[in-house]
Amino acid sequence: MRRTRNTKIIATLGPSSSTLPVIRALFEAGADVFRLNFSHGDHKTHRDLFNIIRTLEAEVGRPIGVIGDLQGPKLRIGTFAQGPVILRQDQAFRLDLTPTPGDATRVYLPHPEIFAAAGPDTELLIDDGRLRLRVTRAGADFAETVVLTGGRISDNKGVNVPNVALPVKALTAKDKADLDLALSLGIDWIALSFVQRAQDVAEVRQLINGRAGLITKVEKPTAIDEIDEITKLSDALMVARGDLGVEMPIEAVPGLQKRLVRIARTAGKPIVVATQMLESMIHAPTPTRAEVSDVATAVYDGADAVMLSAESAAGAYPISAVRMMSRIAEQAEKDPMYRAIMNADKPKLEATAADAISAAAAQTAETLNAACIVSYTATGSTALRAARERPSVPIMGLTPVVETARRLALVWGVHCVQSRDPSGFNDMLDLALAAAERDNFGRTGDRLVIMAGVPFGQAGATNVLRIARLGDTNTGG
Ligand code: PEP
Repeated sequence: MRRTRNTKIIATLGPSSSTLPVIRALFEAGADVFRLNFSHGDHKTHRDLFNIIRTLEAEVGRPIGVIGDLQGPKLRIGTFAQGPVILRQDQAFRLDLTPTPGDATRVYLPHPEIFAAAGPDTELLIDDGRLRLRVTRAGADFAETVVLTGGRISDNKGVNVPNVALPVKALTAKDKADLDLALSLGIDWIALSFVQRAQDVAEVRQLINGRAGLITKVEKPTAIDEIDEITKLSDALMVARGDLGVEMPIEAVPGLQKRLVRIARTAGKPIVVATQMLESMIHAPTPTRAEVSDVATAVYDGADAVMLSAESAAGAYPISAVRMMSRIAEQAEKDPMYRAIMNADKPKLEATAADAISAAAAQTAETLNAACIVSYTATGSTALRAARERPSVPIMGLTPVVETARRLALVWGVHCVQSRDPSGFNDMLDLALAAAERDNFGRTGDRLVIMAGVPFGQAGATNVLRIARLGDTNTGG
């Protein structure tokens, strides 16, 4: 079973996708990685979903990646005594630390750190930015504001404070409990929400301690200020366009998406483009033209993965949404312009054997029209360097480590196969040829370009490039 596209698809699971038959159908439609969203659902729900994914993995014999997305320090207002109220432009509205239900003049905001950080002219955005308030006066336990954009406001709506670094920790008590669960289950990737500074990533990285990959969700302007350091400390990035489009002028998001894809590709780290990609498919069986164009744009940008949120978690057409995303990615990748863009955007090589051999493998594979590049990889780092080249043929990652195979499910162009360490050079060829044949990479006579490190089983020692032909055995030596 092999995908015929390089860009990976992440499907968020939820009420519309919580049973084995539906999750199997999502996988068959094209989902490579599943996301458990810890902003919703309890531990039993997440554990059950995780177990279903691992059952499916055993059934289909392909490594499947799982992301645990932590809610992070999401800020919310309290409740209203008489239900939702309407705020009108230019009216005054107060937020304070008094936990009594609110009305059209005030509401509880249980976050003193906002009051401490807010000065005159700080903007508070409520309900994904639908309402905008400007602070006129703030004290230790209140903020008086004037309504810039009014509308309906109701219980527990989210609050964003753009351009202000709030003194809140990267992980709440709930996040810590969710992280413990995720790590005890063996989740492959942890996504970290509302990162404000590199220090947030460093702290969580230490807690994870290599037990999962760390995806930083870029959704705060303050994180963008420290993006180089954050990229260094992360194993992957996500362009979390939902909150990013609230925290920043929405028209700045497309350019930032392109910039972040380039930063991640240069660093050789996977990047995910997320949110509202096929939003209308929550309710409709076909997407809008603009949404199709948006998914295609992320693919042309060179993203490793595109993500579905509510479309697959709570929508009426989860399987059609995955199928549609897969069709859009396949079509974009077939376009000669796509190859031209991938080649034109190639980042500079670093002076390492892995980069020298990855570039040589990509060039050799293109020249010979090879069936695939084979990358022997224990930690996944060699396959990541090969993917950074965005070669014109797929990359088959051969790894003895199942956790590596699952993590690489997120990475552009990498089809992972679990395999033992080769016992010698001929065995390296035989294992690669057998895996390529089994997974239909080509026909007898087609060539494979194999990258490996000799002696085998030693991480970080990529030093060999070998060409082999499908149909041959023990051709090496
Ligand atoms: C986003 O904000 O775009 C995002 C992916 O995060 P969440 O779905 O958790 O809001």
